[in-house]
Amino acid sequence: MKKKQGQRPRQHEEQPMGIPYVDEFRDGRLARKIAAAIAAAVRPARQYRFMEFCGGHTHAIYRYGLEDLLPANIQMIHGPGCPVCVLPMGRIDDAIALARTPGVILASYADMLRVPGSNGTSLMKARAAGADVRMVYSASDALQLAVAHPDRQVVFFAIGFETTTPPTAVVIREAARLDLDNFSVFCNHVLTPPAMRAILETGDELGLDGFVGPSHVSAVIGTRPYDFVAADYRRPVVISGFEPLDVLQSVLMLVRQVNDGRVEVENEFSRAVDAEGNRKAQALMTELFELRPSFEWRGLGQIPASALRIRAAYAAFDAEQRFPVPAQAVPDHKACECGAILRGVKRPRDCKVFGTACTPDQPIGACMVSSEGACAAYYNYGRFKDVAVAGQA
Ligand code: SF4
Repeated sequence: MKKKQGQRPRQHEEQPMGIPYVDEFRDGRLARKIAAAIAAAVRPARQYRFMEFCGGHTHAIYRYGLEDLLPANIQMIHGPGCPVCVLPMGRIDDAIALARTPGVILASYADMLRVPGSNGTSLMKARAAGADVRMVYSASDALQLAVAHPDRQVVFFAIGFETTTPPTAVVIREAARLDLDNFSVFCNHVLTPPAMRAILETGDELGLDGFVGPSHVSAVIGTRPYDFVAADYRRPVVISGFEPLDVLQSVLMLVRQVNDGRVEVENEFSRAVDAEGNRKAQALMTELFELRPSFEWRGLGQIPASALRIRAAYAAFDAEQRFPVPAQAVPDHKACECGAILRGVKRPRDCKVFGTACTPDQPIGACMVSSEGACAAYYNYGRFKDVAVAGQA
């Protein structure tokens, strides 16, 4: 189309072809249109209960006020897809014990440093007491620390779902190539499909009508690993991008499936996800990692075959082989409802200490620490939404 003189080019005209724009997926006018389509599609006599598995979606829902755009008979239930939140307190204690080991530098992401361990400890507090704990932005940063400090043992506290696992695999392979004898990984990588199965195995406690499926995880594993949700548990899944229009469109797709009586895995995030996923990343994960028989999740307990450990061929880079770790099961703080929130049975405002004793500055539970945690998202974007404003009717 010919531009009028003086008219600024539209944003997308200045960008390389084929790359969609974030702004296009945050367009308020389009959001209202999709919301109207959802309102027209829902059956008034029916309740719709959808779980967004991923903390990134929880964050988008609160940040953009998407719940306010949905009809009252659609309820979004926050799932266990926050990688910081799902790690049980025992694993935090293990990381603190590793950090306190003489000669060790423990490296991890900023959020992990603030997650409370037992007895009010954290990696941050361990650092204040003299442990050498470093904040890194990537697995590769941790490897660089090992290269820079050949006289110290560097342990990378690795966490996350299938999205962050391939970068950890890359650094382990690189450490092997460099023949580094001072680098190891405390591996806490967990898997999405077994956690979804665990949620579904809780029966009808949640009365779920479907899932808004993970986006970045699915870019790695593809859509096929969710087929069991539709086939075995008769629940639809729509893989969704993280932008507000993605989430709204995915909810609309779920509503339509429910209304039509269809149970399918659909893909709203087709600009990044296909059925097969990233085979190179999958091959790398298979080469470096194997399934743990069982792994404890905060709120969900032991889930079989739900996490990864480093294969024997790379045992030299496995911190659990190299150092003694306590590996004790530790219950959450008794006031903390993180477990129930991660199972989807409670919401942040149901926790008695939300926003009072527990805040992002002074967190009692992991859900208040991570930016993907439901409590932090609700605290930052939603806690005042039910408060009456003086002068308003
Ligand atoms: S408010 Fe704090 S203590 Fe309560 S569930 Fe959330 S993180 Fe846990």
